[in-house]
Amino acid sequence: MMSLFTLCEEDVRLTYVSSTNGGEYAGPCPGCGGRDRFRVWPALGRFWCRQCNKKGDTITYLIEFRKVTFRVAAHLVGKQLGLPTSPNQQRTFYDAIWKNNMRRSAKN
Ligand SMILES: [Zn+2]
Repeated sequence: MMSLFTLCEEDVRLTYVSSTNGGEYAGPCPGCGGRDRFRVWPALGRFWCRQCNKKGDTITYLIEFRKVTFRVAAHLVGKQLGLPTSPNQQRTFYDAIWKNNMRRSAKN
């Protein structure tokens, strides 16, 4: 899977701050700046900004900070996973992620 950490490091400089959740890194937020308000947990594949409160996974990161559509983000991540590439199989995969994201944001 496309590494969230690698992606973040292309945008901002991250520093290891604690062993929380298998390792926590801090740095400026790719969206709103600052110094250490942006946190990344590579082992969980999650990020969170305490200032603008943007948070999520690799797909969310791509959408929020690289300004790609959900479809493109899912495609980029899916490619790394080596998923089937026939249009029908892709659609099923995207739909599953989409529904999952909807469920997740409904909970927040
Ligand atoms: Zn931010």
